[in-house]
Amino acid sequence: MTTPDFTFSQHSIQDFLDCQRRFLLRHVLRLAWPAAETDDQAAYELHQEQGQAFHRCLQQYFSGIPEEAITSSITDELLAGWWRNFLGEARGFPWNIAGNPPPGLMLLPEFTLTAHLGDHRVSAKYDLVAALPGEHFWIYDWKTSRSIPPREKLEPRVQTRLYSWLLAAAGSGLNAGTDITPDQISMTYWYVQHPARPISFAYSSEQFTSDRQQLGDLLDYIAGIPEADFRLTDDPVQCRFCTYRSYCERGFAPGVWSDLSGESDLSSVLDNLPEWEDSSPLEL
Ligand code: SF4
Repeated sequence: MTTPDFTFSQHSIQDFLDCQRRFLLRHVLRLAWPAAETDDQAAYELHQEQGQAFHRCLQQYFSGIPEEAITSSITDELLAGWWRNFLGEARGFPWNIAGNPPPGLMLLPEFTLTAHLGDHRVSAKYDLVAALPGEHFWIYDWKTSRSIPPREKLEPRVQTRLYSWLLAAAGSGLNAGTDITPDQISMTYWYVQHPARPISFAYSSEQFTSDRQQLGDLLDYIAGIPEADFRLTDDPVQCRFCTYRSYCERGFAPGVWSDLSGESDLSSVLDNLPEWEDSSPLEL
């Protein structure tokens, strides 16, 4: 069903796993459907704006804008607290730029990488890649959700698998032209509302081989489905917060925002709502 110029992202693949029909509507047909995702759209949109603003602050910080200039530009109280949390913990990160960063360290915020996997093009936009060529490559993903999902749920998620695989498969441009070995990569989810509880995953050659096989099989499978066969999910939770509810005749009332923003087992739904779409990929 997908065309040769289609680019898969973690959002589109996760959408497919959550609901095949949503993948089709959102990413292939690009159907705009004006329906609220939650019952408190104002709170939802404020959450979007605060999340985007936090990501912008960190992008500015890692691009070299002075900490004080960013601090003085923040007017939102919640965002100011998140920013303080970040500054407090950033000094403990292995690539601490506020203290004494190791020579050769490269900090790449909002870094986009694209590669081919079989016949398919895949892309990822990393919140931060901290690269110490020849030594280690840290992937960081900033999360603003109130709750932290269990580690065992994060580990198999598409984002974890795809981001690590893609850096090993296509990140040689960050390593003086030499392939990055999987054991040089780690990925950390950092939750701004729980700054002292990051969740990190070390990568390995075995996992790299497994990810390549599983992702490749999945993309082959998706590409081979005829348009009429993209199934509607059986999971009512997915429909509750989906903008296509009325289109799919899965009800008209949106999901309850306080459920979405407060429950850890709904955090994957929150993470994959449309505000975090990837922007245009940049090929290395
Ligand atoms: S409303 Fe439900 S079935 Fe329809 S696209 Fe959304 S999640 Fe899928």
